[in-house]
Amino acid sequence: MTDPSRLLAHLAAHLGAAHVLTDPADLAPHLAETRGLQRGHALALVRPADTAEVAGVVRACAEAGVPVVAQGGNTGHVGGGLPQGGIVLSMARLTRLRAIDPVNASITVEAGMVLADVQAAAEAAGLLFPLSLASEGSCRIGGNLSTNAGGTAVLAYGNARDLVLGLEVVLADGRVWNGLKGLRKDNAGYDLKHLFLGSEGTLGLITAAVLKLFPRPTSRAVALVGLASAEAALALFRRLRAEAGPTLTAFEYIAPFGLEIVLRHRAGARRPLAGAHGAYALVELSTTRPGEDAATLMEMLLARAQDAGLLEDAALAASEAQANAVWDLRESLSEVQKAEGASIKHDVSVPLSRLPEFLARATRACEAAMPGLRVCAFGHFGDGNIHFNLSQPVGMDRAAFLAAWERFNRIVHDIVAGLGGSIAAEHGVGLLKRDELARYADPVALDLMRSLKAALDPANILNPGKVLPDRRAGEAASFGFSEGSTKI
Ligand code: ZN
Repeated sequence: MTDPSRLLAHLAAHLGAAHVLTDPADLAPHLAETRGLQRGHALALVRPADTAEVAGVVRACAEAGVPVVAQGGNTGHVGGGLPQGGIVLSMARLTRLRAIDPVNASITVEAGMVLADVQAAAEAAGLLFPLSLASEGSCRIGGNLSTNAGGTAVLAYGNARDLVLGLEVVLADGRVWNGLKGLRKDNAGYDLKHLFLGSEGTLGLITAAVLKLFPRPTSRAVALVGLASAEAALALFRRLRAEAGPTLTAFEYIAPFGLEIVLRHRAGARRPLAGAHGAYALVELSTTRPGEDAATLMEMLLARAQDAGLLEDAALAASEAQANAVWDLRESLSEVQKAEGASIKHDVSVPLSRLPEFLARATRACEAAMPGLRVCAFGHFGDGNIHFNLSQPVGMDRAAFLAAWERFNRIVHDIVAGLGGSIAAEHGVGLLKRDELARYADPVALDLMRSLKAALDPANILNPGKVLPDRRAGEAASFGFSEGSTKI
């Protein structure tokens, strides 16, 4: 590496000194994750204004041999955007809405646009951008795409990856690939965008994207359903999928402990069902068909399911406010879990057919491994994706509980792997699951990933040490969790 101060002076000359920040106070928010449990370090925070400036930064860093870690809203859960040295490149100034084409049903946005602003721009054009997740008010679309974010609309519209028609990407040598085509069919060679989507900034930096837009539903209905078990939830899901078809836009799962702690800690949360049940499902139907009322359809489908013995009780939201309140129960789960002490978290998926078995086996194994531990399982049941979180036993020392993270990784991830699942469903790999990926991924797949990394980033400057171990000899250890830190 050449003298870093020369690099910083060069960057300041190109971006303006106001956009090359080295003051610890300016850097601090970019060196910790939202939960503040994991810290990184960096030479500087740089804030380019546009794609050309991003390319200039990457080119200069490549020449100096200094790593670059792109950051959007810094809302990730796996340490993927956390720098371990080098430059943090913030996309926060690349917020332009470049184009919207209602006829093509597409929108072209820059990477730093906040997800909620992309949604609002689509709405202003009378259309829907469906990607939706808890942090949508602060996460940025470039981060959503580089992590292939999931969220609550995957069942109907797919992951972030499925919503992309084209990309603009700054490559590791500073060249810009302009792939901003708004085409729904394009088989002219390899589909390069999919290399960068979900690569967590390790293969190139996404600076803009053409995204798909959809018709806005004209009617929506939301219900909270009480069920005997996860098996019953699966039976209900199968039936609704068959009978509602594409009208079924969400099927989320909440284990009883989850509902209990939401009602305990969430201000204003009200119990929607009178009795207690073995499992809960949030069901959403939405339709764009003129004259079709989603609530009427929901009532009919749930009544049929109840007659068939598939559900125990259901509360149908009677207004938009009630629908939002039901969604709030589900979406505040991560937040309220903090009030129950430390959590060990897993973001896993298994084939839908194995989901009840996973929940039963993993719950049993974790409870047996630590008496008093409370399983907080919830998530995107219809996608086969569960946030299998563990709340510490009441009264246990927080650090002692978190020290068991590896042990629970092994218990949960072994079951996931045995069922043909994934240890990283929608949050990515980052630092947190890098070694888990190396343990569970197919060796040929890992080889291909390493080959791609070497081909696209031969000098290994793009977010090194994330997803895959750092190739640079002697530096691998420095990309592990820093001493005294706690895994998120
Ligand atoms: Zn989720």
